[in-house]
Amino acid sequence: MTYSDELKRRFQNALMGNYGLPPVAISEGEGRHVTDVDGDTFLDMIGGIAVSSLGHNHPALVQAIGVQAARLAHTSNLYLHEKEVELAEKLLELSRIDGRVFFCNSGTEANEAALKLALLAGKDSGKTKIVAADNGFHGRTLGSLSITGKAAIREPFEPLGRDVRFVPYGDADALKAAVDDETAAVFLEPAQGEAGVVPAAVEYLLAARQCTAERGAALVIDEIQSGFGRTGAWFAHHAAGITPDAVTIAKGMGGGVPIGAVIAAGPWAAALTPGTHGSTFGGNPIACAASLAVIDTIERDHLFDNVLALGEHLDARLAGDPRVAEVRGKALWRGIALTEPVAADVVAELIGNGVLANAPRPDTIRIAPPLTITQTELDEFCDKLIAALDEIMPAPGARP
Ligand SMILES: *Cc1c(COP(=O)(O)O)cnc(C)c1O
Repeated sequence: MTYSDELKRRFQNALMGNYGLPPVAISEGEGRHVTDVDGDTFLDMIGGIAVSSLGHNHPALVQAIGVQAARLAHTSNLYLHEKEVELAEKLLELSRIDGRVFFCNSGTEANEAALKLALLAGKDSGKTKIVAADNGFHGRTLGSLSITGKAAIREPFEPLGRDVRFVPYGDADALKAAVDDETAAVFLEPAQGEAGVVPAAVEYLLAARQCTAERGAALVIDEIQSGFGRTGAWFAHHAAGITPDAVTIAKGMGGGVPIGAVIAAGPWAAALTPGTHGSTFGGNPIACAASLAVIDTIERDHLFDNVLALGEHLDARLAGDPRVAEVRGKALWRGIALTEPVAADVVAELIGNGVLANAPRPDTIRIAPPLTITQTELDEFCDKLIAALDEIMPAPGARP
């Protein structure tokens, strides 16, 4: 812990225990770095879990938020404001989906909305079942939790009241067998982020597209973590060349301001008729202005080229290290799998050396840094990661 016992005590007395005790207390950020309450600086390799796509304190984001806040901060959805229209049009263009958009404030809400529209669309034809993948993560509210494959976080709240079938992720035959005429929707991540950045093969996504189309079920692709540039493209599933019926997004789309959305193709979008769904804050003017600034900056500064090139650099730096079993994922959204389940120790060592990353599973370190990161900063990460591995899992013969 980098902060005082006094702050620790106040945190524990005032906040619920669901997050445990955080190792660092951050007070400010600049670019790819954050500074803690004691004045120590950290290289941010996790970006608030794939959220801070432009890094911290980016001038374009600060400007967009400030200007919008001074002009109009909130309308509710009783009234229209132009930024929501502009952002929705832009998302339809980027997603290549011929449809419409619903705005909310988080990832779990985006999946709730997608669940509701799929169930409504399937109601008259008796489609009530949902299919999702083992180890998947779709959110913590009860609807999204019901389709979350990670048993440890779902099971304490069962029964969840939905007919959900879980299938092994990546197994096309199991998926095809699970989808029938009563299936309203299939929810899949193009790569499972919380499972440690585990990508699906292109053929799997193609099979998912095919079997859902045959049965009239909605294919919902959860791009909440993978989208908005994480893989060096607007959407990870574009690499498979498929067009889903709905895509859910959140995390990186606001660059740190809470916003989420469902982009759904025409017939599915049409299921949300007046009164069927809503959100007081969804599509809030400040959040929409922030997201437009994120999109604009990614395009103007060619940030996809940056993360794709640096992704190759990362592969080159870690290639051949005997302690690294594999480096999953693309660009700079990576699961660095170790040959031993010591990822938490490595992350603690990294924090001690001024680098923030996390361990979504015992053998995997995840990185999801700002898309604006430089090669010098990435090299600093690689140097410190290798030093941490030397400390925690010294190569045979390297140490007494
Ligand atoms: C983070 C995440 C969610 C949930 O988003 P919240 O904003 O935390 O509700 C859903 N799906 C995926 C794939 C995620 O990574």
